Amino acid sequence: MIQFDYNRRVTGTLANLSAGGRLPHAILLEGPAGIGKKTAAGLIAQISLCEGEPKPCGVCPHCVKVEKRIHPDVRFYTVPDGKKEFPIELVRQLRQDAYVLPNEGCCKVYILDRAHTMNAAAQNALLKLIEEPPENVRFVLLCENRSRMLPTILSRVVSMELELPSAEQCAEALARLAPEHSETEREAAAAGAGGNIGQALDLLGTAKPSRAAADTRRLQETLLFGDRYQALKVLAAYDKDREGLRQLFTLLREAFAKLSAAHYSHSGADPRLLNRITATQALQVSDIVAQAALRAERNVSIPLLCGCMVEEVKGILT
Ligand SMILES: [Zn+2]
Repeated sequence: MIQFDYNRRVTGTLANLSAGGRLPHAILLEGPAGIGKKTAAGLIAQISLCEGEPKPCGVCPHCVKVEKRIHPDVRFYTVPDGKKEFPIELVRQLRQDAYVLPNEGCCKVYILDRAHTMNAAAQNALLKLIEEPPENVRFVLLCENRSRMLPTILSRVVSMELELPSAEQCAEALARLAPEHSETEREAAAAGAGGNIGQALDLLGTAKPSRAAADTRRLQETLLFGDRYQALKVLAAYDKDREGLRQLFTLLREAFAKLSAAHYSHSGADPRLLNRITATQALQVSDIVAQAALRAERNVSIPLLCGCMVEEVKGILT
């Protein structure tokens, strides 16, 4: 279950709207960086897709996939690396995608991170979509400052402002998220960040790269420039580590999705990578990897799963 107990006002409002079947199709979550907007968006995605009662049940296949960030009907869009604005091209790409039916859920949920960085043209493109949304689509806009949004957008969304947790709630969350640190370190970080859990985690330096994060770049390189054998060699380290493999695939999926977006933003990505793969191919690869992440959840043989994934990706790139 996604833990988000401290923002009672927002979770309470979401629960009431959901119970009444009145969850709006466009929601704006406002608050500073690190306060938990992405976590709250995950909760909205769970409520939207959950098949249990009361929603989110936390245990149905949809809730589980949303929490593990592998649900194919939850799409996360953010500002590409090296860019300052959320590009209008991404809004256009999203608009095309929104008219495609959901893969396995009852709806699609689009999470638009850093929406306050959209310029007026991008917001107007988004406005058209929010005004006449395709059926079964929900938008969650994450925003640090709602005064940066056009009044026309604000009039079409339901805004919710996230609150900072208390120092105790922040320390509790850190105990769960960063158990490797001492209580004294966690309390100091909670105080230093004024209760902002994301910033407190930054202070603790828990954003250190995992093995899967380091391997993501290597695997992306070998898939793009190496041969099948080299890619399988990276994956061989995960023969007995299903959870690590799932993490690796989740990161790899995001890496290819970012690469696709970078084609439209004309910066932020290694030009060598951009010359090797088109935006469409990168999206196709991202979908293949997402499917592989789903299969990694089940009891499929890992070498077989990896072999098929590499074969499919190479098929796209040749
Ligand atoms: Zn559920």
